[in-house]
Amino acid sequence: MKASGWGLEEITPERVQLVSPSGEVLQGTGGRHSEYPIHTEIMAARADGGGVVHTHSPYAVALAAAGQPLLPVSHAATYFVPPEVPRFTDTADLILTSDLGKRVAASLGSASAVFLVNHGIVTAGPTLQVATVAAVLLERAAHQQWITHGFRSWPTWSDAPEALSKRDHIYHPQALDQVWNYLVRRLERLSHAHGSGLTSTTRTLAGGCHDRAVTTRGRGLPSSRADPMGCGVPILCHGL
Ligand SMILES: [Zn+2]
Repeated sequence: MKASGWGLEEITPERVQLVSPSGEVLQGTGGRHSEYPIHTEIMAARADGGGVVHTHSPYAVALAAAGQPLLPVSHAATYFVPPEVPRFTDTADLILTSDLGKRVAASLGSASAVFLVNHGIVTAGPTLQVATVAAVLLERAAHQQWITHGFRSWPTWSDAPEALSKRDHIYHPQALDQVWNYLVRRLERLSHAHGSGLTSTTRTLAGGCHDRAVTTRGRGLPSSRADPMGCGVPILCHGL
């Protein structure tokens, strides 16, 4: 997972750690996020878990805190709904223990996302790219829903069959790849604009992690900068 103390856009290969199930930093330097059990326990619980993202994204947090269900008022929400996005309410405090991590994983189940009510969100997917795109979509969907309610009229949203159809049409695997690649290009433009070179990690992920055949968990961080993630390590995001 990424080292603590850095924003997501600041992550370089040197700021990525290999963390054991008990929280030991096996490779990499810097501080380790205290909420690592979110990631380790979901990775342990989900056979399809290739990536887990946890952030404190403001619109999604606000939506969950308001007690509102996520509604497919836009394309983005159809990635998740139906079924309803699960809500973890055991605590709004940090997830610091493996027991809490297990309970978050149980709340997530086989879904793409779970609201940690009054805390944040967690998304999971077969790859880090898919989990990351899911986190972006969830925040976008919550933002769209907030804007919709701002008109104070009578909102409409897709029923379940239409939402599922939209999911198939809009968020098929190739489209998720395209969204990821767009996010990478946008980050590169931002990096160029600010004169930094902080996108090597992201670029490598975009170009090198599509071959699931090489995916093997827990082999450790590779030394080659050409493939800093190794694509075989369950790389985990952790947002501020
Ligand atoms: Zn958190």
